[in-house]
Amino acid sequence: MKHVCILCDHAYEPNRQQQKKLMKFPQLIQICPRCSTRITKKVMARAEQAKTYSND
Ligand SMILES: [Zn+2]
Repeated sequence: MKHVCILCDHAYEPNRQQQKKLMKFPQLIQICPRCSTRITKKVMARAEQAKTYSND
């Protein structure tokens, strides 16, 4: 079962957890692991930044 990542348009094999989710919710948007790590890094960086700003 291959899925196409909405961000990079590359086909990828979802892991077991994602496969279960996709079977339950076929309309759910899934991204490939590569994009996932890329985005997670950015989100974490932003969260860190927000933390430092809110500490004032
Ligand atoms: Zn991707």
